[in-house]
Amino acid sequence: MNNPSLRIIPLGGVEEIGLNCTVFEYGGEIIVIDAGLMFPDDEMPGVDFVVPDFTYLRENAGNIRGIIITHGHEDHTGGLPFLLRETSEEIPVYGTPLTIGMIKEKLREYHLEPPLIPVKPREEVRLGPYEIEFVRVTHSVVDGVGIGIRTPRGLIVHTGDFKVDPTPVDGELLDFRRFSEFGDNGTLLLLSDSTNAEKGGFTFSEKEVMRAFESIFSSARGRIIIATFASNIHRIQQIVDVSARHGRKVSLCGKSIVTNADIALRLGYLKMPENTWLRLDQILRLPDEEVVIVTTGSQGEPMSVLSRIATDEHKSIKIREGDTVILSSKMIPGNERSIGKIINHLFRRGADVIYEKVSEVHVSGHASKEELKLMLNLVRPEYFMPVHGEYRHLVYHSHLGRKVGIPDENIFIMHDGEVLEIDSGGARKNGTVPSGRVFIDGKGDIEDMVLRDRRRLAHDGVLIVIMAMEKTSGRISSGPDLVSRGFIPEEESEGFLDGAREVILNILGTLEPEVIQDISLLKARIRGGLKKYIYKAINRRPMILPIVFEI
Ligand SMILES: [Zn+2]
Ligand SMILES: [Zn+2]
Repeated sequence: MNNPSLRIIPLGGVEEIGLNCTVFEYGGEIIVIDAGLMFPDDEMPGVDFVVPDFTYLRENAGNIRGIIITHGHEDHTGGLPFLLRETSEEIPVYGTPLTIGMIKEKLREYHLEPPLIPVKPREEVRLGPYEIEFVRVTHSVVDGVGIGIRTPRGLIVHTGDFKVDPTPVDGELLDFRRFSEFGDNGTLLLLSDSTNAEKGGFTFSEKEVMRAFESIFSSARGRIIIATFASNIHRIQQIVDVSARHGRKVSLCGKSIVTNADIALRLGYLKMPENTWLRLDQILRLPDEEVVIVTTGSQGEPMSVLSRIATDEHKSIKIREGDTVILSSKMIPGNERSIGKIINHLFRRGADVIYEKVSEVHVSGHASKEELKLMLNLVRPEYFMPVHGEYRHLVYHSHLGRKVGIPDENIFIMHDGEVLEIDSGGARKNGTVPSGRVFIDGKGDIEDMVLRDRRRLAHDGVLIVIMAMEKTSGRISSGPDLVSRGFIPEEESEGFLDGAREVILNILGTLEPEVIQDISLLKARIRGGLKKYIYKAINRRPMILPIVFEI
């Protein structure tokens, strides 16, 4: 093969928001951009997250020259441990310093130590036939980049996740010049972020959030509790700055947010005035008007700090009259119901709650239509592949491509696993490679969900909890009755089940009536409590199925 074709294969990220992972292959040599996860929806009980099917990369593991990560969001990094496990721990991983810092922390949890190579924007890396350049973009995570890939067939540009923020918090603008040079020098193919392709106009600058914060901080008299994404260092920076201006201290609450802030602080991406960051026990001793607590759980996750605060189950933070709670993040579709419940709980306890719909406490990190057209015009690619979106996002993005003059036949809406082939005769779809979704439970095995359930039933058994609840009062009128199968010998089961019943009664006894009436939350609590009890007692993880009848 002295004139091989170039193959571009999205393994994920073109049929969903999440699972971002694209393979580039030339003359049998492979590089991979991003290896992301996706969080499960309500239809995937017991699944912690989802990663792409890496079969194709496993089968070609020896040909992978490197993995390039555009930024530290989990929909780009979360599949990396699984990709490395399935291929080789020897494959080098490239990213900007903060991205590498975040990845390193994550990989440590999985006991993986591949070569991690920090690269700065405008720096180049040579991997086999590819020359790879990092290009600064603005996004809701610090230190994000797009990628220019020079191949023997021509230049490919991948934007990564981006928006065009003219006033970024750290002053690091999108590198317009480099993107337009890519256009001047001729770009073969552009892959661009489609998340907000349905939205007209421009996305607001991250700094707009500051205005909302300023007005909330000026009028709040009590404590301020803010929930946001753990990776949003710019948001945390703005919270720190506005707090300092209003004479408040900040405490970060929750493991992921503390870890990320630590890394960002160490690498100089987050700046904290001295004595601003306090431990939770320290800050709770201050007068209310000096307190800001930053935490996660803005998506209504039942086990998160915010959820515990909202349902009065957090051991040290109790909501009281005068508290202001800000949900500074997008309500991700599918999570609205659980977020709504948390907001209701918080209002019931006397807090003032401020969220996306009522104030500008969140702006998106993704480009809207005008910015997307700007990017298309800067890079002026011959071929265009919209990525990072569900089908409708890709379709909208393709319309924008057409508007700026890319011929229809040069725009490719792909499916996960589909191959785009480019050679001297042009570009075309040509076949597929194995693709799909793999369900992950904890850090455990990679298996198809049905198999996982079967295995779990076979090896770990099942514990069924049945009870009946009065709809109006939330009183448990019958049960809990417990049935176990397959994980504890008959003769030992009585004492064990008594203990489990006690755990449930304890949980029920400490819950507020409105939590008890919230069946999904109630089930989550029961599952959580039993999981701990069973693991401690017999070191097993049976499937736990709480069944609650409303009467
Ligand atoms: Zn992102
Ligand atoms: Zn993303």
